[in-house]
Amino acid sequence: MARVFNFSAGPSALPEEVLNEAAAEMLDCNGTGQSVMEMSHRSKAYEPIIAECEALVRELLAVPENYKVLFLQGGASTQFAMIPMNLKKNGKAAYINTGVWSKKAIAEAKKYLTVDVLATSEDKTFSYIPKVEPIVGDYDYVHYTMNNTIMGTKWSYIPEAKRPDGSEIPLVTDASSCILSEPLDISKFGVVYAGAQKNLAPAGVTLVIIREDLIPETMPVENTPTMLQYKIHADAGSMYNTPPCYTIYMMGKVLKWIKKNGGAEGMAKRNQEKADLFYDYLDNSDFYHATAEKGSRSLMNIPFLTKYDGEEATAINKKFVAEAAAAGLVNLAGHRLVGGMRASIYNAMSLEGVKALIAFMDKFAKEN
Ligand SMILES: *Cc1c(COP(=O)(O)O)cnc(C)c1O
Repeated sequence: MARVFNFSAGPSALPEEVLNEAAAEMLDCNGTGQSVMEMSHRSKAYEPIIAECEALVRELLAVPENYKVLFLQGGASTQFAMIPMNLKKNGKAAYINTGVWSKKAIAEAKKYLTVDVLATSEDKTFSYIPKVEPIVGDYDYVHYTMNNTIMGTKWSYIPEAKRPDGSEIPLVTDASSCILSEPLDISKFGVVYAGAQKNLAPAGVTLVIIREDLIPETMPVENTPTMLQYKIHADAGSMYNTPPCYTIYMMGKVLKWIKKNGGAEGMAKRNQEKADLFYDYLDNSDFYHATAEKGSRSLMNIPFLTKYDGEEATAINKKFVAEAAAAGLVNLAGHRLVGGMRASIYNAMSLEGVKALIAFMDKFAKEN
């Protein structure tokens, strides 16, 4: 079967070039006579693979020297717990609630410290990013979800936060669905974390970029499992236990592909072009409309509805998703919380794929 255009929210499409390279190296990687899947993570053959992946993360995101780059397991969801468990000092943190993933992060943090939710966009089904005035408070950190995968919104600014004494409060952000989709000034953050399966790699690894002074020497939460301590992983170069070797290898390949295509800036240009084309189409259609408000729109995840309501909408959405799949445009069903459809157009999605989707949508609108 021919390759489809895959609009999945995650795990999501990978660059074809990367898959072909991985296929060519499947049985013999770099003349070792082994697949990367079979290598010891402590072998001479594997060492350069993880080292190169880290070097590329540092290069493409211009990670400052005083930050650690960690490759962890347990997904972004494990970071929801690791953040409060490691960053707790006075015992109070601020969160902004912009959707499902924020809520999950908040619920997890509440197990370990007091959470102040300073702003939310729940009043309008999370269809916008609230304007957060400069935060002043005695918070251990401020957490927000940079790109809201389900709601299709993205922060267009970095919030400011200071303690009453004027010192900086570390910003922590979940960048799972937007990492390396555009440049990001890491120095503005204490921690940036991202599950890899949207923009970086297959599922199985979580990228954590953390400022060194935020890694506690002794854990503030008693009996924190060893695997949930940043220090353990930082001191061991992400090799305290067996890392997800193959996924890290794949991430290295995706990062090389990003570098070859202009790095974070190249991705931003490519993604802006795709998103502009798609939003323009939606904004000028009388059949479809985007759910996210202008000014808060994601470049990566675009939920949209048709003009139909209620049961009619349910039927038309189902028809859309089935006919799109038959036309080689897959994984377009919307999340149940937003309804309708959602096109996730991460880095690996080509402009050609977006154009094919729009052409299909136009035909579908005329027929329905
Ligand atoms: C997908 C996603 C998650 C969950 O990631 P896991 O790796 O499955 O735990 C968390 N936050 C955001 C923004 C996501 O898009």
